[in-house]
Amino acid sequence: MFPIDHFKQEPTPFYYYDIHLLDETLREMSEYSSPYGFHVHYAVKANANPELLKRIAAAGFGADTVSIGEINAAISAGFPAAKIVFAGVGKTDYEISEALKLGIGCFNAESEPEIERLEENARQQGKIAPVALRVNPEIDAHTHHYITTGLAENKFGIAMEMLDHLISKCMESEWINLRGLHFHIGSQITDLEPFKILCQRINTLQEKYADVAFPTINVGGGLGIDYENPDAHPVPDFKSYFDIFHNNLKLRPQQQLHFELGRAVVAQCGSLVCRVVYVKEGVGKKFAILDGGMSVLIRPALYQAHHKIENITSKSEMTETYDVVGPICESSDTFGTEETLPKTSRGDLIVLRSAGAYGETMACGYNCRPLPSSVYSR
Ligand SMILES: *Cc1c(COP(=O)(O)O)cnc(C)c1O
Repeated sequence: MFPIDHFKQEPTPFYYYDIHLLDETLREMSEYSSPYGFHVHYAVKANANPELLKRIAAAGFGADTVSIGEINAAISAGFPAAKIVFAGVGKTDYEISEALKLGIGCFNAESEPEIERLEENARQQGKIAPVALRVNPEIDAHTHHYITTGLAENKFGIAMEMLDHLISKCMESEWINLRGLHFHIGSQITDLEPFKILCQRINTLQEKYADVAFPTINVGGGLGIDYENPDAHPVPDFKSYFDIFHNNLKLRPQQQLHFELGRAVVAQCGSLVCRVVYVKEGVGKKFAILDGGMSVLIRPALYQAHHKIENITSKSEMTETYDVVGPICESSDTFGTEETLPKTSRGDLIVLRSAGAYGETMACGYNCRPLPSSVYSR
């Protein structure tokens, strides 16, 4: 499955992207969203690799961005400005002003002071800012502990109690065009029930604000992927996901539904490839020490995430257990403990699967190590 002979020539660590799998993922995402007229914006923060961005733009999707840097990356990759939305709790005046000049499709606003800055920047440019209000839907974490961004105590979104006031503020402003409501309840959600609850919350809000025009509803992203069994589910179940919204959300006539998927689009097509530098005997355990660690893939250290680990070059029939660790001077620099792998030796190539999302994009230069390079399937 991996082009091992090619990998052996490459300096490690590097990210490998299976472009065929990306294309298949984009095809299925389109196949199950377009019959319902749904629009998907790719969440650039999952991976801003220019090759991937170009393919996603060419497939006709929009871009969901969180900084002027991401907006510029999206434009260079060919996303039309009108299909770019700009989210985030801390947009600066510079970012707002640049994004207005570029004519992006929508600002997803998260607070009253932000709305005031949007209004002021729009007035100065003599332009009308398209704005959606990001609502914190307060979906209960006790029933769904994997939801982390839609709770009252999170920094994200506008509390429902403040919505009346901010809707009126937008409607009264001559410099703001209220485009609709925006939601995002969390990430790596594999049980679809929370999305059903989100639909019910939105239905209630749409009834409450029956006299306010919301041309678009944006339900954010968060669809999860199968980290433990990537070969069983290389493409997420987009059909069930989009069906949930089609079956549970009551859209008004002409109302558009927008999605912002990140992880589901790019996670499975990417792998991190490292070399074993040493196999070290510890007390009662063996360590496989790799040449890439948390500075190239931080998810395990940051969120206790686990990526499937494979030794793709060992020819041994015997297996052993290893703690698979990186070279960085932090104890959290561990990819897996007691991993069963074929007998592993110095020089073997180790692959961390499902690393296309929140991998390369979060890489940093800690310990003055170089950033990882990228290799693409042909
Ligand atoms: C991170 C984020 C997304 C994408 O989340 P995924 O879990 O990668 O799909 C979408 N919308 C907003 C507002 C986000 O912050």
